[in-house]
Amino acid sequence: MGILDDVVVNAKAAADAVGRKAGQIVDVSKLRIGAAEINAEIAKRYEVLGQYVYECSRDNLSADPEAIGQMTEIDELKAQQAAIAKELGDKQNKVFCPTCGKQSPTTATFCSACGTKLAADPEPIPQEAGPNDAKEAVEADFPEATEADIPPRQYP
Ligand SMILES: [Zn+2]
Repeated sequence: MGILDDVVVNAKAAADAVGRKAGQIVDVSKLRIGAAEINAEIAKRYEVLGQYVYECSRDNLSADPEAIGQMTEIDELKAQQAAIAKELGDKQNKVFCPTCGKQSPTTATFCSACGTKLAADPEPIPQEAGPNDAKEAVEADFPEATEADIPPRQYP
């Protein structure tokens, strides 16, 4: 429950700080900025709390259709995220760490940032692809249309 205690303490500290500022200088624009900061802080705290609930309380919320619906949508988005990361990695000869998201060469066995074991490529590509090579490969997949590709307009 440590993270929940932190959320409460930090939210109180932020509210106190804005309260002091507002008392010293009564200024509408400053109050508005204070309100915006508080709103952003609340949104951030909701996000942290939501992630905590998603990761820790799935089983407890299995009877709550709203919670399950939201968590299922997050699951689907995470699956899409993983698929895009995989496709992007394939195009750039890079693999993405499933834990921290850092890119590593396909030849790497472990993530250089967090040490997670990376999925072994069944047939590792021996060539060392530089950043320019990767860029060219991506561009080659999406060639820009030239005039030759566009058929001449037919007028009746
Ligand atoms: Zn990592």
